[in-house]
Amino acid sequence: MAARTFDVIVVGAGSVGTPIALAVAESGLKVLVVDRCPSVGQGSNKRAIGGLRATHSDPAKIRLCLRSLEVFSTWEERYGDKIEWRRGGYSFVAYRPEEERTLKELLVAQKRYGLHIDWHDARSFLGILPDLNPEGLIGGTLSPDDGHASPLLAVHAMYARAKALGAAFLFNERVTAILTSSGRVSGVRTDKGEYAAPIVVNAAGPWGAEVAALAGIDVPVRPDSHEAAVTEAVERFLEPMVVDIRPVAGSANYYFYQHDTGQVIFCITPDPSIWGMDVRETSSFLPMAASRMVGLMPRLKNLRIRRTWRGLYPMTPDGFPIVGWARELQGCMLAVGMCGQGFMLGPGLGELVGRMIQGATTGADRETLAYLSPYREFRGQEKLK
Ligand SMILES: Cc1cc2nc3c(=O)[nH]c(=O)nc-3n(C[C@H](O)[C@H](O)[C@H](O)COP(=O)(O)OP(=O)(O)OC[C@H]3O[C@@H](n4cnc5c(N)ncnc54)[C@H](O)[C@@H]3O)c2cc1C
Repeated sequence: MAARTFDVIVVGAGSVGTPIALAVAESGLKVLVVDRCPSVGQGSNKRAIGGLRATHSDPAKIRLCLRSLEVFSTWEERYGDKIEWRRGGYSFVAYRPEEERTLKELLVAQKRYGLHIDWHDARSFLGILPDLNPEGLIGGTLSPDDGHASPLLAVHAMYARAKALGAAFLFNERVTAILTSSGRVSGVRTDKGEYAAPIVVNAAGPWGAEVAALAGIDVPVRPDSHEAAVTEAVERFLEPMVVDIRPVAGSANYYFYQHDTGQVIFCITPDPSIWGMDVRETSSFLPMAASRMVGLMPRLKNLRIRRTWRGLYPMTPDGFPIVGWARELQGCMLAVGMCGQGFMLGPGLGELVGRMIQGATTGADRETLAYLSPYREFRGQEKLK
């Protein structure tokens, strides 16, 4: 049936599938997005705390996120939707020579790749973050062009624009098979029907390995869970996201910022990682995160926490996403393994996937794709996971 035939089918209407659909619709192709949830952005997307940074350690993610920042920061003026974008910046603090060394080493490559980032000694850094605990502070970096936005509002705005451009979305529908014909993709089967397309993009986030397995493809994406919390809204006292990469028993790092609407939102990276799909909150997260944060910024002790939640990072062995055409099955594209950065990568990645589908990649795109190749060796470790 013609109504069920598309140029491209995207599995997953999340942080990445939605901007991919938007880019494909913008290029004039007929795109269908299928998601098993009842509406857009209900997987990991709505669990993200909204941080948007181009401050990474490699040219691929820096390039993609610089483009994403352009999209997020201009969205309201271009399309009118409020997505709670704020250019608050990102800061990384150093209280030990180890962190000072790491941050200063990274700075060299980050500047080379075009980031507007600088090191500040303790005095200058306290001018930016006056509430930081000054005891033992060596300094830190600030990238003023980073910021934050609401993941739900942003993905909803992209969804509305994709729909206005003709993209079709089906919710409450789970993809149960990737269909093939003569050795290449021919569509998908869901629990409600079949849809035809010569290209299927797997953007299923933490379920990316499960969906890839439907096509007989093995991708090393494993969900690991992270907890987060939000406080009551208070008057503005904090601009940049504050990231503390000192490892302490139970957490590898933590980060927090004051959202555009006044709440402080925070999150830790558990150490060791907590693998699996369990998203029930724990009783250990809040005491651990709160004591680290109050130690770093004593003023935070007056804030009341409103809610905690837990969600999944779609992790890869080296901390880099997996993006590219699958060699195992022609017409099958992988856009999975976004780790803790799917929201910030979304718009840049969406446009890149759009160019791949059009056969219009640039030299810079090909360099980016080499970093993200599904067939790389997964040996290294991303430094700012
Ligand atoms: C606590 C926490 C804080 C975070 N903070 C940030 C942050 O500040 N900045 C940032 O950039 N990232 C952050 N992240 C990470 C971010 O949430 C993820 O990287 C991102 O949401 C992944 O996007 P995705 O589109 O790959 O997956 P998702 O957004 O989960 O989308 C995948 C979609 O696929 C659908 N799906 C799966 N299987 C099927 C199927 N068989 N059929 C149909 N549909 C299917 C799911 O329902 C889901 O909607 C955070 C994550 C957590 C948990």
